[in-house]
Amino acid sequence: MINILTFDIEDWYHPNLAEKELLADLPPEDRVEAPTLRILNMLEQTGNKATFFVVGDVAEKFPHLVREMVDRGHEVSSHGYRHNLVYDYTKAQFETDIRESVSLLEDITKSQILGYRAPSWSLGRTTTPWAWEVLHEHGFIYDSSLYPFKTFLYGDNGSPRFNYELPLAKSVSLREFPPSVADVFGKRLPFSGGFFFRVIPYFFIKQAMKQYNRQNQPAIIYLHPWEIDIDQPRIKVNAKHDFILYANIERTEKKLLRLLKEFNFVSIRDYYSLTSETLPTSPQAAVAQTGPQF
Ligand SMILES: [Zn+2]
Repeated sequence: MINILTFDIEDWYHPNLAEKELLADLPPEDRVEAPTLRILNMLEQTGNKATFFVVGDVAEKFPHLVREMVDRGHEVSSHGYRHNLVYDYTKAQFETDIRESVSLLEDITKSQILGYRAPSWSLGRTTTPWAWEVLHEHGFIYDSSLYPFKTFLYGDNGSPRFNYELPLAKSVSLREFPPSVADVFGKRLPFSGGFFFRVIPYFFIKQAMKQYNRQNQPAIIYLHPWEIDIDQPRIKVNAKHDFILYANIERTEKKLLRLLKEFNFVSIRDYYSLTSETLPTSPQAAVAQTGPQF
């Protein structure tokens, strides 16, 4: 059974809990390169592939890192240009962010960008109903922004747990790939990435993944390079946010490696080509000179 692995490629200062004024006294150093290369090497070592949702700011500073992902057979998708929350944008501002992000990533990768993940899962059916139309218009065929578990920051318990076609206007089609959450006696429990992956015991993560696979579904995992960067500057936030940002960072790399050895992972793009009889295409994809390489 195959599973889906994703990484949001952003630096230690990008998480939205790290507000700009809290960063003022910290060194403005970029640290994303080293942990991302370690992730690429772990994938190589274990024979796995992933989708990398790359922030435009990072791609601009480290285009060679993005090329490295492509050269090693991974998928590059968009995590927005500036890592701003989508529900803080107007539709026009979101459109600009998306246009710039796609143009930069397509320049570097020389292929079409198919997927989007909103910073901090900040897309919502009621908060940003215009967002999917913008994504469709810019050639995306899938989204991975709807967290099917309600936290104090994001998510929706009513959102489907398995990948599905978003119920949009007839002319707009997008497939949603939500991060996985376990079903424990009818209650949802997140395990598949970020803070939850770091604090939940490995045994439970493994069982939850098997639960997905028993239902013939891929589990969808997500992590960030800063989650394996032990020496990153610590942002002074309150105790709750400190725990969310930094809990178990020193143990996450080992945990990830164990997961990579015990399960098989592919990118979302490759999952499509392995499971779909006909690949979804958008009008942009049909006319693009360098279409998706499946
Ligand atoms: Zn992010």
